[in-house]
Amino acid sequence: MTSFSDFGLADTLNRALVDAGYETPTPIQTQAIPDLLKGRDLLGIAQTGTGKTAAFALPILQRLAPGKPAAPRRVRALILSPTRELATQIAESFKLYSRYMNHMSIAVVFGGVGHRPQEDRLKRGVDILVATPGRLMDHMAAGMVSLESTEIFVLDEADQMLDMGFVLPVRRIVKHLPKARQSLFFSATMPKEIGQLAGELLFNPVTVSVAPAATTVERVDQRVIHVETAAKRRLLLDVIVAEKPERALIFTRTKHGADRVVRQLGQDGVDAAAIHGNKSQAQREKALAAFKAGTTQILVATDIAARGIDVTGVSHVINFDLPNIPESYVHRIGRTARAGASGVAISFCADDERPYLKDIEKVTRQKIPAEDRRGTISVAERADTAERGERAERLSGKRPQPGNRSGNQRNNRRPAPAPVSAEQQRRDAMPAAKARQPGAAKPSHAAHGKPGQAKASNRPNHRDNGASEESLGRVGFLAGGRDGLKRRPEGRGQRDGR
Ligand code: AMP
Repeated sequence: MTSFSDFGLADTLNRALVDAGYETPTPIQTQAIPDLLKGRDLLGIAQTGTGKTAAFALPILQRLAPGKPAAPRRVRALILSPTRELATQIAESFKLYSRYMNHMSIAVVFGGVGHRPQEDRLKRGVDILVATPGRLMDHMAAGMVSLESTEIFVLDEADQMLDMGFVLPVRRIVKHLPKARQSLFFSATMPKEIGQLAGELLFNPVTVSVAPAATTVERVDQRVIHVETAAKRRLLLDVIVAEKPERALIFTRTKHGADRVVRQLGQDGVDAAAIHGNKSQAQREKALAAFKAGTTQILVATDIAARGIDVTGVSHVINFDLPNIPESYVHRIGRTARAGASGVAISFCADDERPYLKDIEKVTRQKIPAEDRRGTISVAERADTAERGERAERLSGKRPQPGNRSGNQRNNRRPAPAPVSAEQQRRDAMPAAKARQPGAAKPSHAAHGKPGQAKASNRPNHRDNGASEESLGRVGFLAGGRDGLKRRPEGRGQRDGR
């Protein structure tokens, strides 16, 4: 199968694909679409970036097209997504592919925003509903929507549902679906519990597996830098100055950590934004839109927030903290190897993260080239920061902004920031529930997120209120630092005046 026309899709869909610039189906599309058009169930082992959304959206649209529009409070096809970002993206894809179809209604519901507009929408009936589990259950409980006539059910990013504690809500939702339905189940990895869930939901499924972990991993130029926890901040600045990333995603393990990195980058003159679960929906959308548009070149994210983010042109993934789930490493670095592109992934590894590195190398069946920078980066020297600031300025070719540090100020060493103890830093870097006590043994299997084991430690701590809201839209002394990093031609990319 080398062309979309071979699938026998409706002309309306083919026209939309031409508009979208899709010429050749991706492997998952080639393998899944014919069986899905026949109504078969599907188990898709694939991650975001493989074209899986079109692999399920096109057959769903084709199958729903001849039928009657949804009755009030009814849904014809339900897609469950773990995150609001992914839900929004899936709904956008459906809208794109169905643009020439008449009367195909698509709606998205997720938490963190008002109920009322979603209720009004659901009351009218929806052909294709994309939802996160919690908010959908709210609407079901309130009688706003019924799944009794739903014909097609898609569970997307099932392993992420598990990590986020959504397996029970998913099972509850599925109980409301008719037995006679088409079910599709997508997961990037197949831990035991997810395999069990797939067994419960699917009937005689076709299994399609694309881009196994190793394939994605191979396309990315990976490096590990061994470094002390306390020196990561300086190392990050060094890496940014040296690599001049076009667009970088920096990963931290916690929301608190993401905010701290943004704050510290700001202090060091590099403009960045954070995206994580403590941000309001509006802030997340704003940060993501700025990153997509290229006005923010550095986005600092937690694993959950970053899942499903579909941004092309991510040149660098920087793991400020190594993930304690090896599969997350694959997801993270996959952000920079989308649609056949390749990228750079640089991981900082502190001594207490070495077990994580070991696990990652085991799961990805590779040895990541490593550099040892321990003992080479001075931690407490304020002047060191100033020097980097100068380097950043030189890169940008710009003078400091008024109100920021001037050349004179640079010579006046200000008192060093209150040192944070190594223990404090280490605790901050760990999920709250699992911060190990001094002297404790290396992380347990549960902390590693081994399949089938309790993953409480890996779940986002929704009550982590350590997030500061100052991280969006700040301008560091790099004065439109993006320019510096990107070295745009003069006159372009100035934040002020936009
Ligand atoms: P997904 O894995 O569904 O998140 O898709 C990843 C990206 O690939 C999205 O930006 C899609 O628009 C794009 N895409 C999906 N299928 C194709 C295709 N056949 N040709 C070109 N781009 C595609």
